[in-house]
Amino acid sequence: MLGSWNIRGLNGPNKQKVVHDWILRNNLKIVGMLETKVLHANVEKVQRGLNLTGWNFFSNRTSGNTTRIIIGWDSTECHVHCIHSAQQWMTCEVRNLKSNMRLTVIFVYGMNTPADRQDLWAYLCRHSFGQGQRSWLLMGDFNVTLKASDSKGGDVRWVGHKNDFGDCLLAAQLHSISYSGLRYTWHNGQDHQTMILKKLDWVLVEYYKGIMASTAFHPHEMGTDRFPPPISTACKPQMDREDTTKWKGHSKGRFSIASTWNHIRKKKPLNIIANLAWFPDHVLRISFIFWLATKGRLATMDKPHVSNMITSNLCVLCGERPETHAHLFFQCSYSSRVWNAIISKVGIAIPPMRWDCLLQWAASNFHHKGKFDHMMVRHAITSSVYFLWQERNARVFNNKHKEVATLSKEAMMQLRILLLHYKKPIPGASSFSLWASSPRSSSEAVGLRKITCWAGGFLRLVGLVGRSHKLVVHGDHNEKCGRTEMYKKD
Ligand SMILES: [Zn+2]
Repeated sequence: MLGSWNIRGLNGPNKQKVVHDWILRNNLKIVGMLETKVLHANVEKVQRGLNLTGWNFFSNRTSGNTTRIIIGWDSTECHVHCIHSAQQWMTCEVRNLKSNMRLTVIFVYGMNTPADRQDLWAYLCRHSFGQGQRSWLLMGDFNVTLKASDSKGGDVRWVGHKNDFGDCLLAAQLHSISYSGLRYTWHNGQDHQTMILKKLDWVLVEYYKGIMASTAFHPHEMGTDRFPPPISTACKPQMDREDTTKWKGHSKGRFSIASTWNHIRKKKPLNIIANLAWFPDHVLRISFIFWLATKGRLATMDKPHVSNMITSNLCVLCGERPETHAHLFFQCSYSSRVWNAIISKVGIAIPPMRWDCLLQWAASNFHHKGKFDHMMVRHAITSSVYFLWQERNARVFNNKHKEVATLSKEAMMQLRILLLHYKKPIPGASSFSLWASSPRSSSEAVGLRKITCWAGGFLRLVGLVGRSHKLVVHGDHNEKCGRTEMYKKD
C-alpha cells in the first residue's frame, strides 16, 4: 500500500505524530511526504521523530532550500532504491520482498508556475521511453488540473498552458486511475463566492501495463480543527491482475444500448400530447399532420419563410384574421363550425378553449388506450385538424373550396370508418349518434362492422380494378392491414 500526502510542514512533533498515525492506520508500506519544509540539517531528526521502526528514508533535500519530498518505506516489506531525484520528483525502484514483484514509483510535488513545471513534463516524457516492460506508477501533488471540470470557482478560463499536463500524459501514455473519496483535493480556505476547489492530486499509471490500483483521497483527521482539511492519498497497486474494461454508463458495469442512450440523451418531461397523436389504430398521415400542428410546425402564413412568399397572411378559410395555428384550430369561423359539427356527433362535451389548452385538456382526459370514447375523441381531434389543413391547402394551392357541410361530412365519413377498428363491445348507445341513422345498439354496430369489413374488401378489389375504368369509390376500409383510405371523386 502506497501513500502520499502534501503535509505542508513536518517540523513539529505534532505533525510527525499525525503522519505516524496515518501510516499505521492505512497500513502503508511506502509513503511520499510532500512539502515537508524541513531544513537540510534537520531531516534525520524529523525522520526519527516519525517513530517508525524498521523504516528507511531518503529525500531530495538540497543545501540552502527546505526539503520538498521525503520518501519512507518499511524495509521489512520492500526494498526501495532511489534512481533519480529532482526538485519536483523522486523516482524509486520498488521490489516487494515477498512476491519479488518490481515497480517504478515516482512521487511528484509540482511547482506552482507553468514555466517551472516544464522540467517535470519533460522528465516524464523521457522516462516513459525507458520503461520497457516495467510498470510504473506516479502519485502526488502535481499542482495542476487535467480538465476544466477539475476545478470549481475562481478563474474558469482554460488557457493554453493548462494543456501541458494532458499533453504530457498523452505523450507518456499515462492515465489517471479510478478513485474514491474526494473529487477536489485542494481548497483555498475561502467560502461562498470566493471559494475555489481543485483536483491537484493524481495517481497515474501506464495504460497497457496491467497495473491495477485503487485510490482514495480523504481528508485527514487532523483537519477537524483546521479548514480546509489536508488531503492524503492512498493507493494499492495490484500488479498480478490484468486490466479489465468497465462500462461506466451502467451500475453493474455492463454495456448496453439502453444505458448508452440514457447516458447521452437529455431527459425531458414526458409529452402527454403524444398520446393524442399516437394510439392504437391511428392513421399515420392524419397523426403526422396533427403532430406537426401540436408542435406549431405546419407552414402557416405567420411563419417567416412562408410570409416572405405571399402578399397576405390572412386565413384562407375565413379571410378575416391572420393565419396561425391557434386561429386555424379552432378559432376561425370556418374551422370552428367544422369542429363543432364533429364534436356534436361525438357526444362528449368539449368546452371551447384555446388550441394549446385544448391539447392539454384532451391529453389529460382521453389518454386510455382501450376505451372507446377516449379513442373516439382522439380520432375526432386528429381528423378535424387533418381535414381542415387539407382544405386550407386545397384553397391555397388548387383554388378549390368546400363548404362547411361538405367538409364536415367527409370528416365524419372518415371518422366512422376509423371507428370500425374498435373490436370490443361499444358501451352506451349515445356514442352511436356518430353512426348516423343505421345502428342503434352494440350488436347492430358489430353487425355493421362485419358487413362493412366484408364490403371494404370487396370495394377494395373493385377499386383496384375500377380505378382504371374511372369508377368512383367513396370509401375503402382494409382492416387486415390496418389502413383506411379515402378516394375523392374525379
Ligand atoms: Zn380563419
